[in-house]
Amino acid sequence: MNTTTLIFLVLVLLWISIRLYLNHRQLVHVRNHRNAVPKPFDETISLAEHKKAADYTNAKGRMSNLSLILEVLLLLLWTSAGGLQWLSSLAISFSHHYIVHGLFLVTGLLLISSVIQLPLTLWNTFNIEKKFGFNNTDLKTFIIDRIKGLILFAAIGLPILSLIFWLLQQAGDLWWIYCWLAWTGFGLLLGWAYPTFIAPLFNKFSELEDRELLEKINTLLSENGFNSSGVFVMDGSKRSSHGNAYFTGFGKSKRIVFFDTLLESLSHEQIIAVLAHELGHFKRKHIVKGIIVNAVITLIGFYLVDQFIHSQLPATLGVTDTSQITLLILFVLVSPILSFYLQPIFSWWSRKNEFEADEFAKQKSSATDLVSALLQMYKDNASSLTPDPLYSRIYYSHPPAHERIAALQQV
Ligand SMILES: [Zn+2]
Repeated sequence: MNTTTLIFLVLVLLWISIRLYLNHRQLVHVRNHRNAVPKPFDETISLAEHKKAADYTNAKGRMSNLSLILEVLLLLLWTSAGGLQWLSSLAISFSHHYIVHGLFLVTGLLLISSVIQLPLTLWNTFNIEKKFGFNNTDLKTFIIDRIKGLILFAAIGLPILSLIFWLLQQAGDLWWIYCWLAWTGFGLLLGWAYPTFIAPLFNKFSELEDRELLEKINTLLSENGFNSSGVFVMDGSKRSSHGNAYFTGFGKSKRIVFFDTLLESLSHEQIIAVLAHELGHFKRKHIVKGIIVNAVITLIGFYLVDQFIHSQLPATLGVTDTSQITLLILFVLVSPILSFYLQPIFSWWSRKNEFEADEFAKQKSSATDLVSALLQMYKDNASSLTPDPLYSRIYYSHPPAHERIAALQQV
């Protein structure tokens, strides 16, 4: 075994160990705090609800252990065990054209990986989610969703991949800049098309009918100079009873979407407070900043791919194929073992944005309403109020309950 292979295996081992360790900490911490509702929440959350959240978090955590192990096995299968090389040879016997070869490879990889992961996905939806009363999906909807996903992949994924492969092969030394431009442009186009053309394939969106609520929403929006193409209700309850609200799209296609489940469980005042929070993300330019940061990272990513495919690394990872497309795919497969270490930075940044959006909501609506709405949502989603501090530092995109509510209650 040469040094690079050894380093790769050590990195993989480190990657899985850290993640299993974090999961373990979370499980233990939540279990240790299961029998008492923590201080500021004991008036609003019952012990039974708190225990349900702990059990749900732990059931999810145990499943996440399994899926981490499976993920690592798949990575080793595709790389060191020669899976990608095998698939690539199979693809060549199918077609010699580099674009067809690349598309065959990506499709094969995705299909095989998702078939291997299917039992866990089924277990999650039809056992864990169902047991805790969140799942409303039946097998038919589940299968139809998968088929729609495949059709979308064929209609949107394959064309952009063809373009990327073509540029990689034909655009010379600066291929990575052209690819980055194409990828970013395509991402923006997709962001614009998503609310109007893609999301409706999976859910029904209807205009909000509650006149009184609509008036309150429009007042909040116009006070803050916000234009949108409408307020919609999504039939989220078709699949799951988890609730949410979000802004989607940009420019004229911008929409406000409420899950029907959320509208049912919150009062008008609470809904306005949640909306003010979402508006805060827009007003503090979190969306635009997110797009810019994403574009910079993608540019660095494409540059690194260029360095990678011209290096000696691929051969040491079980791939002797010299096709640049195969090497690009290999890079995408192995990059998480290093990009994982950026996770804490992204989570920190996301939590910072959440605090800013809360601050905005505090000024434009009412902190009390937002706090009570959040508590209701924690309750409805069985989110743990007692996450492990280290685990939440690394993974949480939203501040843990106590920090978030303390910040809102600060005068
Ligand atoms: Zn937010």
